Amino acid sequence: MNMERRQFIPDPAEKIKPKIPDIPTLSRKLEEVQTSSQLSEKEVMSLWARIRQEDRETERKLYEDILKKILTRIQRECGTLGNFGSLEEGKKLMAAPTHPTVKEFVPDVDNPFYSGAIASYDQLSNKIRVHDNFKVNLGPESLVLDLSKEGFSDSITVLHHEVIHSKQDSIDVKDKDIQLKLLIVRIVRALRIGSPLSIAVAAWVPKISVPTALIAALLIFRNKVESQKEKILHEGQAYIGSARFGKGKHVLKTTEELIERLQKSYGIWKRNLNKILIMSHDIKRLYALGMSDESIGEIVKRTKWDNKRNCYDDIESTVKALSETSGLTEEQIDDLVAADDINGAIFIEKSKRIAQEELKKAVDDLENKST
Ligand SMILES: [Zn+2]
Repeated sequence: MNMERRQFIPDPAEKIKPKIPDIPTLSRKLEEVQTSSQLSEKEVMSLWARIRQEDRETERKLYEDILKKILTRIQRECGTLGNFGSLEEGKKLMAAPTHPTVKEFVPDVDNPFYSGAIASYDQLSNKIRVHDNFKVNLGPESLVLDLSKEGFSDSITVLHHEVIHSKQDSIDVKDKDIQLKLLIVRIVRALRIGSPLSIAVAAWVPKISVPTALIAALLIFRNKVESQKEKILHEGQAYIGSARFGKGKHVLKTTEELIERLQKSYGIWKRNLNKILIMSHDIKRLYALGMSDESIGEIVKRTKWDNKRNCYDDIESTVKALSETSGLTEEQIDDLVAADDINGAIFIEKSKRIAQEELKKAVDDLENKST
Protein backbone atom coordinates (compact mmCIF):
# COMPACT_ATOMS: atom_id res chain seq x y z
CA MET A 1 0.00 0.00 0.00
CA ASN A 2 2.85 2.34 0.84
CA MET A 3 4.46 1.75 -2.52
CA GLU A 4 1.24 2.57 -4.27
CA ARG A 5 0.65 5.65 -2.17
CA ARG A 6 3.79 7.33 -3.39
CA GLN A 7 2.93 7.01 -7.03
CA PHE A 8 1.28 9.89 -8.77
CA ILE A 9 -1.37 8.75 -11.20
CA PRO A 10 -2.54 11.60 -13.41
CA ASP A 11 -6.28 11.74 -13.71
CA PRO A 12 -7.19 11.71 -17.42
CA ALA A 13 -10.52 13.37 -16.65
CA GLU A 14 -8.67 16.38 -15.37
CA LYS A 15 -7.64 18.58 -18.25
CA ILE A 16 -4.68 20.37 -16.83
CA LYS A 17 -3.42 22.77 -19.44
CA PRO A 18 -2.80 26.03 -17.64
CA LYS A 19 -2.15 29.08 -19.78
CA ILE A 20 0.77 31.29 -18.79
CA PRO A 21 -0.95 34.24 -17.14
CA ASP A 22 -0.43 37.84 -18.09
CA ILE A 23 -0.57 39.57 -14.68
CA PRO A 24 -0.54 43.22 -15.88
CA THR A 25 -3.44 42.56 -18.29
CA LEU A 26 -5.38 40.74 -15.57
CA SER A 27 -4.80 43.60 -13.12
CA ARG A 28 -6.08 46.10 -15.68
CA LYS A 29 -9.14 43.93 -16.23
CA LEU A 30 -9.81 43.87 -12.50
CA GLU A 31 -9.54 47.65 -12.30
CA GLU A 32 -11.92 47.96 -15.22
CA VAL A 33 -14.62 45.81 -13.63
CA GLN A 34 -14.13 47.49 -10.27
CA THR A 35 -14.48 51.03 -11.53
CA SER A 36 -17.27 50.56 -14.07
CA SER A 37 -20.55 51.86 -12.70
CA GLN A 38 -22.73 49.55 -10.67
CA LEU A 39 -25.86 49.99 -8.61
CA SER A 40 -25.55 51.28 -5.06
CA GLU A 41 -26.61 49.12 -2.15
CA LYS A 42 -29.69 51.29 -1.70
CA GLU A 43 -30.71 50.81 -5.33
CA VAL A 44 -30.23 47.06 -5.04
CA MET A 45 -32.32 46.91 -1.87
CA SER A 46 -35.14 48.85 -3.49
CA LEU A 47 -35.11 46.59 -6.59
CA TRP A 48 -34.97 43.47 -4.44
CA ALA A 49 -37.95 44.63 -2.36
CA ARG A 50 -40.00 45.23 -5.52
CA ILE A 51 -39.98 41.47 -6.20
CA ARG A 52 -41.84 40.90 -2.92
CA GLN A 53 -45.33 39.40 -3.31
CA GLU A 54 -48.26 38.84 -0.98
CA ASP A 55 -48.22 35.17 -1.78
CA ARG A 56 -45.02 33.66 -0.33
CA GLU A 57 -45.00 30.80 -2.82
CA THR A 58 -45.22 33.10 -5.86
CA GLU A 59 -42.48 35.24 -4.33
CA ARG A 60 -40.21 32.28 -3.75
CA LYS A 61 -40.67 31.12 -7.34
CA LEU A 62 -39.78 34.58 -8.63
CA TYR A 63 -36.54 34.70 -6.60
CA GLU A 64 -35.76 31.13 -7.57
CA ASP A 65 -36.15 32.03 -11.23
CA ILE A 66 -33.88 35.09 -10.89
CA LEU A 67 -31.23 33.04 -9.06
CA LYS A 68 -31.32 30.40 -11.79
CA LYS A 69 -30.83 33.05 -14.49
CA ILE A 70 -27.97 34.65 -12.55
CA LEU A 71 -26.16 31.35 -12.02
CA THR A 72 -26.62 30.27 -15.66
CA ARG A 73 -25.05 33.52 -16.80
CA ILE A 74 -22.21 33.35 -14.26
CA GLN A 75 -21.32 29.85 -15.48
CA ARG A 76 -21.49 30.94 -19.12
CA GLU A 77 -19.68 34.26 -18.80
CA CYS A 78 -17.11 33.36 -16.14
CA GLY A 79 -16.59 29.71 -17.03
CA THR A 80 -17.18 28.64 -13.41
CA LEU A 81 -19.75 28.95 -10.64
CA GLY A 82 -17.04 29.52 -8.04
CA ASN A 83 -18.27 28.66 -4.54
CA PHE A 84 -21.83 28.39 -5.91
CA GLY A 85 -20.71 25.20 -7.66
CA SER A 86 -21.12 23.49 -4.24
CA LEU A 87 -24.71 24.61 -3.68
CA GLU A 88 -26.53 21.50 -4.93
CA GLU A 89 -24.07 19.01 -3.45
CA GLY A 90 -24.05 20.92 -0.17
CA LYS A 91 -27.85 20.81 0.04
CA LYS A 92 -27.80 17.06 -0.52
CA LEU A 93 -25.21 16.59 2.24
CA MET A 94 -27.33 18.80 4.52
CA ALA A 95 -30.34 16.57 3.93
CA ALA A 96 -28.44 13.34 4.67
CA PRO A 97 -29.64 11.35 7.71
CA THR A 98 -27.60 11.29 10.91
CA HIS A 99 -25.76 8.00 11.43
CA PRO A 100 -27.33 5.92 14.25
CA THR A 101 -23.97 5.68 16.04
CA VAL A 102 -23.70 9.48 16.21
CA LYS A 103 -27.25 9.64 17.60
CA GLU A 104 -26.37 7.03 20.18
CA PHE A 105 -23.58 9.18 21.59
CA VAL A 106 -24.96 12.64 20.99
CA PRO A 107 -28.77 12.35 21.23
CA ASP A 108 -29.16 16.09 20.83
CA VAL A 109 -27.02 16.35 17.73
CA ASP A 110 -29.81 17.37 15.32
CA ASN A 111 -30.98 20.16 17.58
CA PRO A 112 -29.85 23.42 15.92
CA PHE A 113 -28.86 24.83 19.30
CA TYR A 114 -26.63 21.88 20.04
CA SER A 115 -23.57 23.54 18.63
CA GLY A 116 -22.51 27.14 18.31
CA ALA A 117 -20.90 26.49 14.96
CA ILE A 118 -22.88 27.62 11.93
CA ALA A 119 -21.96 24.52 9.97
CA SER A 120 -19.91 21.39 10.43
CA TYR A 121 -19.17 18.25 8.51
CA ASP A 122 -19.93 14.98 10.26
CA GLN A 123 -17.66 12.31 8.84
CA LEU A 124 -19.51 9.40 10.33
CA SER A 125 -22.87 10.38 8.79
CA ASN A 126 -21.34 11.97 5.67
CA LYS A 127 -23.59 14.90 6.49
CA ILE A 128 -23.25 18.65 6.72
CA ARG A 129 -24.96 19.85 9.86
CA VAL A 130 -26.04 23.49 9.84
CA HIS A 131 -27.68 26.00 12.10
CA ASP A 132 -31.28 26.92 11.16
CA ASN A 133 -30.41 30.54 10.31
CA PHE A 134 -27.91 29.22 7.87
CA LYS A 135 -30.67 27.43 5.90
CA VAL A 136 -32.55 30.74 5.52
CA ASN A 137 -29.36 32.34 4.18
CA LEU A 138 -29.20 29.66 1.49
CA GLY A 139 -32.74 30.47 0.28
CA PRO A 140 -33.11 32.12 -3.14
CA GLU A 141 -34.23 35.48 -1.68
CA SER A 142 -31.07 35.81 0.40
CA LEU A 143 -28.76 34.59 -2.33
CA VAL A 144 -30.18 36.99 -4.95
CA LEU A 145 -29.73 39.86 -2.48
CA ASP A 146 -26.19 38.81 -1.47
CA LEU A 147 -25.10 38.38 -5.08
CA SER A 148 -26.54 41.73 -6.19
CA LYS A 149 -25.10 43.59 -3.20
CA GLU A 150 -21.70 41.95 -2.92
CA GLY A 151 -21.12 39.40 -5.67
CA PHE A 152 -20.67 36.63 -3.10
CA SER A 153 -22.47 34.96 -0.19
CA ASP A 154 -20.89 34.25 3.21
CA SER A 155 -23.08 31.17 3.65
CA ILE A 156 -22.05 29.75 0.28
CA THR A 157 -18.39 30.19 1.25
CA VAL A 158 -19.02 28.20 4.45
CA LEU A 159 -21.00 25.56 2.55
CA HIS A 160 -18.17 25.12 0.05
CA HIS A 161 -15.70 24.78 2.95
CA GLU A 162 -17.79 21.92 4.41
CA VAL A 163 -18.28 20.27 1.00
CA ILE A 164 -14.47 20.23 0.61
CA HIS A 165 -14.25 18.37 3.95
CA SER A 166 -16.57 15.71 2.49
CA LYS A 167 -13.95 15.05 -0.21
CA GLN A 168 -11.18 14.47 2.33
CA ASP A 169 -12.42 11.79 4.59
CA SER A 170 -15.17 9.52 5.69
CA ILE A 171 -15.16 7.29 8.73
CA ASP A 172 -15.81 3.63 8.26
CA VAL A 173 -17.67 2.39 11.34
CA LYS A 174 -16.36 -1.08 10.61
CA ASP A 175 -12.81 0.25 10.92
CA LYS A 176 -11.13 -1.41 13.95
CA ASP A 177 -9.59 1.84 15.12
CA ILE A 178 -12.95 3.60 15.09
CA GLN A 179 -14.59 0.67 16.85
CA LEU A 180 -12.05 0.87 19.62
CA LYS A 181 -12.68 4.57 20.07
CA LEU A 182 -16.42 4.04 20.14
CA LEU A 183 -15.95 1.30 22.71
CA ILE A 184 -14.03 3.68 24.98
CA VAL A 185 -16.81 6.27 24.65
CA ARG A 186 -19.37 3.54 25.49
CA ILE A 187 -17.40 2.59 28.61
CA VAL A 188 -17.18 6.23 29.70
CA ARG A 189 -20.92 6.50 29.31
CA ALA A 190 -21.61 3.28 31.16
CA LEU A 191 -19.47 4.39 34.10
CA ARG A 192 -20.89 7.92 34.06
CA ILE A 193 -19.14 9.95 36.73
CA GLY A 194 -16.72 7.89 38.79
CA SER A 195 -14.14 6.56 36.41
CA PRO A 196 -10.85 8.46 36.14
CA LEU A 197 -11.54 9.15 32.49
CA SER A 198 -15.00 10.59 33.02
CA ILE A 199 -13.70 12.61 35.98
CA ALA A 200 -11.06 14.02 33.68
CA VAL A 201 -13.80 14.84 31.19
CA ALA A 202 -15.92 16.37 33.95
CA ALA A 203 -13.07 18.55 35.10
CA TRP A 204 -12.58 19.73 31.57
CA VAL A 205 -16.16 20.89 31.05
CA PRO A 206 -17.65 23.14 33.71
CA LYS A 207 -21.12 22.13 34.93
CA ILE A 208 -20.96 18.61 33.63
CA SER A 209 -24.01 16.81 32.31
CA VAL A 210 -23.99 13.39 30.70
CA PRO A 211 -24.54 14.66 27.13
CA THR A 212 -21.83 17.32 27.53
CA ALA A 213 -19.47 14.74 28.96
CA LEU A 214 -20.13 12.61 25.90
CA ILE A 215 -19.63 15.47 23.53
CA ALA A 216 -16.44 16.34 25.35
CA ALA A 217 -15.30 12.74 25.21
CA LEU A 218 -16.10 12.61 21.50
CA LEU A 219 -14.23 15.83 20.94
CA ILE A 220 -11.19 14.57 22.85
CA PHE A 221 -11.16 11.43 20.77
CA ARG A 222 -11.82 13.31 17.59
CA ASN A 223 -8.88 15.53 18.38
CA LYS A 224 -6.78 12.45 18.77
CA VAL A 225 -8.11 10.93 15.56
CA GLU A 226 -7.59 14.16 13.73
CA SER A 227 -3.96 14.76 14.42
CA GLN A 228 -2.27 18.09 13.96
CA LYS A 229 -1.17 17.02 10.52
CA GLU A 230 -4.70 16.25 9.47
CA LYS A 231 -6.05 19.52 10.79
CA ILE A 232 -3.41 21.47 8.94
CA LEU A 233 -4.23 19.68 5.70
CA HIS A 234 -7.99 19.38 6.07
CA GLU A 235 -8.64 22.92 7.27
CA GLY A 236 -5.92 24.27 5.00
CA GLN A 237 -7.53 22.87 1.86
CA ALA A 238 -11.05 23.81 2.98
CA TYR A 239 -10.04 27.43 3.66
CA ILE A 240 -7.89 27.79 0.56
CA GLY A 241 -10.42 26.12 -1.75
CA SER A 242 -13.34 28.24 -0.54
CA ALA A 243 -11.31 31.47 -0.58
CA ARG A 244 -10.49 31.33 -4.28
CA PHE A 245 -13.80 32.79 -5.42
CA GLY A 246 -14.78 34.27 -2.11
CA LYS A 247 -14.63 37.48 -0.15
CA GLY A 248 -15.97 38.48 3.24
CA LYS A 249 -15.70 37.37 6.83
CA HIS A 250 -15.15 33.65 6.20
CA VAL A 251 -12.42 34.11 3.64
CA LEU A 252 -8.78 33.89 4.67
CA LYS A 253 -6.86 35.25 1.73
CA THR A 254 -3.33 35.34 3.07
CA THR A 255 -1.23 32.59 4.62
CA GLU A 256 -0.81 34.80 7.73
CA GLU A 257 -4.58 34.83 8.23
CA LEU A 258 -4.67 31.08 7.69
CA ILE A 259 -1.93 30.51 10.28
CA GLU A 260 -3.75 32.68 12.79
CA ARG A 261 -7.02 30.80 12.30
CA LEU A 262 -5.40 27.38 12.46
CA GLN A 263 -3.60 28.32 15.67
CA LYS A 264 -6.57 29.96 17.37
CA SER A 265 -9.40 27.66 16.33
CA TYR A 266 -7.62 24.36 15.89
CA GLY A 267 -4.74 24.65 18.35
CA ILE A 268 -1.98 24.01 15.86
CA TRP A 269 1.32 23.99 17.70
CA LYS A 270 3.98 26.59 17.01
CA ARG A 271 6.43 23.94 15.93
CA ASN A 272 4.06 23.01 13.10
CA LEU A 273 3.91 26.49 11.59
CA ASN A 274 6.35 25.58 8.84
CA LYS A 275 3.99 22.77 7.85
CA ILE A 276 1.17 25.29 7.41
CA LEU A 277 3.42 27.47 5.26
CA ILE A 278 4.44 24.57 3.04
CA MET A 279 0.90 23.16 2.84
CA SER A 280 -0.53 26.57 1.91
CA HIS A 281 2.11 27.22 -0.74
CA ASP A 282 1.60 23.83 -2.38
CA ILE A 283 -2.20 23.55 -2.16
CA LYS A 284 -2.52 27.02 -3.72
CA ARG A 285 -0.34 25.73 -6.54
CA LEU A 286 -2.47 22.62 -7.07
CA TYR A 287 -5.61 24.75 -7.35
CA ALA A 288 -3.92 27.25 -9.66
CA LEU A 289 -2.69 24.40 -11.84
CA GLY A 290 -6.33 23.42 -12.34
CA MET A 291 -6.96 20.57 -9.93
CA SER A 292 -10.43 20.08 -8.44
CA ASP A 293 -11.49 19.96 -4.76
CA GLU A 294 -12.06 16.25 -5.17
CA SER A 295 -8.63 15.39 -6.60
CA ILE A 296 -6.84 17.55 -4.03
CA GLY A 297 -9.01 15.93 -1.31
CA GLU A 298 -7.81 12.52 -2.50
CA ILE A 299 -4.17 13.59 -2.15
CA VAL A 300 -4.85 15.20 1.25
CA LYS A 301 -6.32 11.88 2.37
CA ARG A 302 -3.17 9.88 1.68
CA THR A 303 -0.25 12.32 1.95
CA LYS A 304 2.26 12.05 4.78
CA TRP A 305 4.73 14.54 6.19
CA ASP A 306 8.25 13.71 5.02
CA ASN A 307 10.71 14.81 7.70
CA LYS A 308 13.75 14.38 5.49
CA ARG A 309 12.44 16.37 2.56
CA ASN A 310 10.50 18.78 4.78
CA CYS A 311 7.27 18.53 2.78
CA TYR A 312 4.03 16.59 2.41
CA ASP A 313 5.18 13.78 0.14
CA ASP A 314 2.24 13.22 -2.22
CA ILE A 315 1.38 16.91 -2.43
CA GLU A 316 4.96 17.78 -3.34
CA SER A 317 5.23 15.00 -5.93
CA THR A 318 1.91 16.02 -7.51
CA VAL A 319 3.06 19.64 -7.81
CA LYS A 320 6.25 18.37 -9.39
CA ALA A 321 4.48 16.03 -11.81
CA LEU A 322 2.03 18.75 -12.87
CA SER A 323 4.84 21.28 -13.35
CA GLU A 324 6.63 18.82 -15.60
CA THR A 325 3.61 17.91 -17.71
CA SER A 326 2.59 21.55 -18.09
CA GLY A 327 6.15 22.65 -18.87
CA LEU A 328 5.90 25.68 -16.58
CA THR A 329 8.80 27.16 -14.64
CA GLU A 330 8.67 27.88 -10.88
CA GLU A 331 8.10 31.58 -11.60
CA GLN A 332 5.31 30.84 -14.01
CA ILE A 333 3.58 28.69 -11.42
CA ASP A 334 3.91 31.52 -8.89
CA ASP A 335 2.31 33.76 -11.50
CA LEU A 336 -0.50 31.24 -11.88
CA VAL A 337 -1.18 31.47 -8.14
CA ALA A 338 -1.18 35.27 -8.31
CA ALA A 339 -3.46 35.11 -11.37
CA ASP A 340 -5.84 32.79 -9.51
CA ASP A 341 -6.23 35.49 -6.87
CA ILE A 342 -6.93 38.26 -9.38
CA ASN A 343 -9.33 36.01 -11.32
CA GLY A 344 -11.25 35.39 -8.10
CA ALA A 345 -11.64 39.14 -7.55
CA ILE A 346 -12.75 39.63 -11.19
CA PHE A 347 -15.23 36.77 -10.76
CA ILE A 348 -16.85 38.49 -7.79
CA GLU A 349 -17.21 41.82 -9.62
CA LYS A 350 -18.65 40.10 -12.68
CA SER A 351 -21.05 38.03 -10.58
CA LYS A 352 -22.28 41.20 -8.89
CA ARG A 353 -22.90 42.92 -12.20
CA ILE A 354 -24.73 39.90 -13.66
CA ALA A 355 -26.89 39.61 -10.53
CA GLN A 356 -27.80 43.31 -10.65
CA GLU A 357 -28.69 43.11 -14.34
CA GLU A 358 -30.90 40.05 -13.83
CA LEU A 359 -32.57 41.59 -10.78
CA LYS A 360 -33.31 44.78 -12.72
CA LYS A 361 -34.67 42.78 -15.67
CA ALA A 362 -36.94 40.76 -13.38
CA VAL A 363 -38.35 43.90 -11.78
CA ASP A 364 -38.98 45.47 -15.20
CA ASP A 365 -40.70 42.30 -16.44
CA LEU A 366 -42.84 42.09 -13.34
CA GLU A 367 -43.90 45.72 -13.50
CA ASN A 368 -44.53 45.67 -17.27
CA LYS A 369 -46.78 42.67 -16.77
CA SER A 370 -48.86 44.40 -14.13
CA THR A 371 -49.40 47.62 -16.09
ZN1 LIG B 1 -13.28 23.11 8.46
